[in-house]
Amino acid sequence: MFGLFQRVRRRQLLADPVPEAWRAILDANVPFVAHLQGPLRDRFFDLLRIFVAEKHWIGAQGVVVTDEMRVTIAAAAVRLVLHLDLSPYDALTEIVIYPWRYQHRNTDGTPQDGAVLGEAHTWGTVVLSWPDVLQGLRNPHDGHDTATHEFAHVLDIAAGAFNGTPELRSREDYRPWGAVLSRHFRRLQRDQRAERKVLRPYGATNEAEFFAVATEAFFEKPRQMRERLPELFDVLAELYGLDPCDGCDGAPTGTPRQA
Ligand SMILES: [Zn+2]
Repeated sequence: MFGLFQRVRRRQLLADPVPEAWRAILDANVPFVAHLQGPLRDRFFDLLRIFVAEKHWIGAQGVVVTDEMRVTIAAAAVRLVLHLDLSPYDALTEIVIYPWRYQHRNTDGTPQDGAVLGEAHTWGTVVLSWPDVLQGLRNPHDGHDTATHEFAHVLDIAAGAFNGTPELRSREDYRPWGAVLSRHFRRLQRDQRAERKVLRPYGATNEAEFFAVATEAFFEKPRQMRERLPELFDVLAELYGLDPCDGCDGAPTGTPRQA
C-alpha cells in the first residue's frame, strides 16, 4: 500500500545517487546484475534502494549487519519483482541474518536435528544464513539459491496462504498454474527424470517448497527448465514477467510493465 508519506520518502531517497560501493558489492556477489541494461537496470537500483531503506535489518548471534549484507540480500528480493512492484514485500518488515546455518531449539533448550539455511515466516520475517546467501548468489547455475528461495516464499505468503500459489497476474492464470505445478510436483515426488534433472529433491516436500525450488531453478537453470519442463518454465515466466534465458546468469530482461 502506498501512503503519501511513503511516496514522498521514496522520492527523496531516489534523488540521491546509488552509492558507488554498492556497485562493487553487486559485482562481487550477484552476477546477474551485470547483465541488466537500460531502464530495467535503473529500475533495479531504484527498487534496491527502497528495499534496503525500508526493511529492518537485524544481526543474530553477534552479526553486525553491513551494507554488503543489505545490498546482496535486497538484490535477490528485487529480482523477483522487477517486472511487478515491491507490494508483495509490504508485509515483510524484518530480515534477520545469522553468521552460519543455525538450529531450532526444543522447549528444553536442546537443539533440534538439521541445520537451517533460511526461513520465511508469515508474521513478516525472513531469516537467512549469510554464508548460504553468498554461496547461492555467487554460484548462479547450481539451482540452489537460499535468498531467492526464501523470497519466493514471501511472495507465496503475501497471497494469503502458504501453499505454492503467489498472486498471479490475471484470473485466467490460476487454472494453468494449478495444473502445471501440481503435475510437476507429483512427478518430482515420483523422482521422474526430467524433474530430477532441473529441480532439487527438496521441492518434493510440499507445494510451497515446490514453488520456491522451482523459482530457484527458473533463475539458475533457465535453459534446462525451458528445454525439459517447458510448461513449468512458461507459467513462471508469466508470473515473473521475464525470460531469464535471454540475459544469462538469471538476469531478468525486457521492459518493466509499471513504475
Ligand atoms: Zn522453503
